[in-house]
Amino acid sequence: MQSIDKFNFAGKKAFVRVDFNVPLDDKFNITDDTRIRAALPTLKKILSDGGSVIIGSHLGRPKGVEEKYSLKHILAHVSELLGTDVQFANDCVGEGVAVKVSALQPGEALLLENLRFHEEEEGKPRGLAEDATDEEKKAAKAALKVRQKEFAKTLASYADCYVNDAFGTAHRAHASTAIIAEFFDTDHKMFGYLMEKEVKAVDKVMSDIVRPFTAIMGGSKVSTKIDIIENLLTKVDNLIITGGMTYTFTKARGGKIGKSICEDDKLDLALDIVKKAEERNVKLYLAIDDKVADAFSNDANTKFVKADEIPDEWMGMDIGPETEKLFAGVIKSSKTILWNGPAGVFEMDNFSHGSRAIAEAIAEATKDGAFSLVGGGDSVACINKFGLADKVSYVSTGGGALLEAIEGKKLPGIAAIEK
Ligand code: AMP
Repeated sequence: MQSIDKFNFAGKKAFVRVDFNVPLDDKFNITDDTRIRAALPTLKKILSDGGSVIIGSHLGRPKGVEEKYSLKHILAHVSELLGTDVQFANDCVGEGVAVKVSALQPGEALLLENLRFHEEEEGKPRGLAEDATDEEKKAAKAALKVRQKEFAKTLASYADCYVNDAFGTAHRAHASTAIIAEFFDTDHKMFGYLMEKEVKAVDKVMSDIVRPFTAIMGGSKVSTKIDIIENLLTKVDNLIITGGMTYTFTKARGGKIGKSICEDDKLDLALDIVKKAEERNVKLYLAIDDKVADAFSNDANTKFVKADEIPDEWMGMDIGPETEKLFAGVIKSSKTILWNGPAGVFEMDNFSHGSRAIAEAIAEATKDGAFSLVGGGDSVACINKFGLADKVSYVSTGGGALLEAIEGKKLPGIAAIEK
C-alpha cells in the first residue's frame, strides 16, 4: 500500500477527500473548525512537496444545490489555516472546474463546491415521485449507479493521485470516498495522515490488542449499541456497561429501576448479553449504586441508592461513588481501553461526575502505559468537557465510522485504498 509520507507529490495533482463538514452558525461562521485543522498535515505535506491539491468535501445534507451548504462559506478560513489563498470552483464537475483544475500550479490549492450538491455523490436518487413503485425506484437507483461511476471518474480525472483523509465518511461507499479509488492503481492512492492515525488506532483495539482489554460502553440505549457489544464480547477481557442502557440490564435481572430510561423490548437481549459474556469469560461490570433524581433536570432533588433499588418516582441519572471506584479500578488495571458513551447525563453538571471519574481513570491508565481510544458520538464531547482529550492516546474524529469499525465492519473508504 502507498504511504503519504513516502510519496513525493512534486509536480503532481492530488485529489484529496477531506471531511470539512463543520458546524456553521446562522451567519455562516464556523463554530468548530476541528475537522479542518485535522486535515491540515495532509494538505500541507502535498503543497510543500510542490504538488497541487484539489480538495473535495461535503457539507451538511443538501438535497440539491442549497446556498446554505455551499463550501464557499468556509473558503476564507481554509485559506487562513493553510496559509495560502485557496481557489474556489463553483461546482465539482463541469467545464469551468476542468479549466480551473488544469490551470492549477504546483503549490496551489483548489476547493471544489459541495460534492453532495450532486446526487451522484451519495448514489441515492432524489426527486422520486412519492407514489413511485418499487420497480421505478429500482430503475432510478440502477441508472444513478451508472452515473455515479461516471461522476467518480470525472473527479478522478482531475488528479494524478487520490488521497482519502475523510475518516468521518469512511463508512459510506460514496463516489468521492470509495468509488473514485477504482480509477487509481495501488501506487497512486493512499490514506491521508488523519485517516492513517484513525486506522492505526482502530487496529490497536480490534486486532493488535495488549491485555487486559477493557471496553466501556455507555450512552442512552442498548439497541443502538448491540452490534458493537456483540463484537466486543469476542475481544475484550472486561466490559463495563454504563449510562442509560444499564437500566435495561438491571430490570432484566429483576432489579427495581423506578422511572429510569429502559427499553422493555430489549430485556431478553440484555440477558443474552450477560449469558454470552459468561460463556466467553468476559467480566461484565454494571453499576452497583446510582445517583438518582426526581426529575430529568439539573436542578432536581438527588440521592444515592443501590443500583437495583431505585424508588418508584426516581430515575437513575449517573453512577454513584461505589461504582466510580469499581469502574476506575478495572480501568486502571487495563492495558487497552476503548470508551464509547457517557456514564450518565453528562450534559447536566450534577450528573457528569461519573463520566468524569471514568475519563480521569482512563487518563491515569494511559499515563501508566495503556493505549486508550475514545470516540463515537458523545464521548468526544465528554472528554473535551473535562479537558482530558490530550491525556488519552487517541480521540477519534469519526462518529458513525468509528462505531461501524468497532462493530467489526470493513469500511468502504478504507477497503477501497487497501485493495
Ligand atoms: P448515545 O448517543 O447513545 O451515546 O447516548 C448519549 C446520551 O445518553 C447522552 O446525551 C446522555 O445524556 C444520555 N444518557 C446517559 N446516561 C443516561 C441516563 N441515565 N438517563 C438518560 N440518558 C442518559
